[in-house]
Amino acid sequence: MSNLLWRLMPGVCVLCRTRTGRPLDLCAACEADLPRNVDPCPRCAGPTPVPGGTCPACQLAPPPYAAAVAPFLYRPPLTRLIHGLKRGNGLLEARVLAHLSLDSFRTAPPPDVLVPVPLTWRRRVARGYNQAALLAARLARPCGLPVDYRSVTRVRHTAPQQSLDAASRRRGLRDAFRCGEGLAGADVAIVDDVLTTGATAAEIARTLLAAGVRTVRIWAVARTPPA
Ligand SMILES: [Zn+2]
Ligand SMILES: [Zn+2]
Repeated sequence: MSNLLWRLMPGVCVLCRTRTGRPLDLCAACEADLPRNVDPCPRCAGPTPVPGGTCPACQLAPPPYAAAVAPFLYRPPLTRLIHGLKRGNGLLEARVLAHLSLDSFRTAPPPDVLVPVPLTWRRRVARGYNQAALLAARLARPCGLPVDYRSVTRVRHTAPQQSLDAASRRRGLRDAFRCGEGLAGADVAIVDDVLTTGATAAEIARTLLAAGVRTVRIWAVARTPPA
């Protein structure tokens, strides 16, 4: 919506329902309450003993993606925005979350293309949309980047990851994704709402790299805090 329209119709906060008085449907007080992911590991967006330094796990066994950015932690009240993104139609939350994450994602050099983490068609039909695709669509214009919705597909859905140990998780995800040839040579940013164990991100990254993609980075709104 244009700024002029926003002046005529001020935003209403998605969390506390007050008028925000600014062109965003989140008030400044609620924004200040959102849990930030401060000085994470640049490779996996997880906690690290040296602020902003690569964590021991990534030093030992680097993930297949070159970098992961997650500006927030998946804790209340941010969880409410993510839940909203997956229910209703998700448009309002996608707008707010994309806006809040933009500065963290826009690092040099930019990627060539955004790729949302795909859902299986069954899931997409059940929900009516893919929340990662909504986010990517909202990021595309301010980043000046195209979104590729078609090259990467999910062939199988997998069991909820947190209930599994690392080996079962990896097994369950093997061959879960397919990538066409259209992305060969590109620097790709994978867009997702929440980065949990990184196992899904790693499997997509492996699939993309095997299809000739040059580099993969992960752009997630939030990461799950350590247990
Ligand atoms: Zn509010
Ligand atoms: Zn790390």
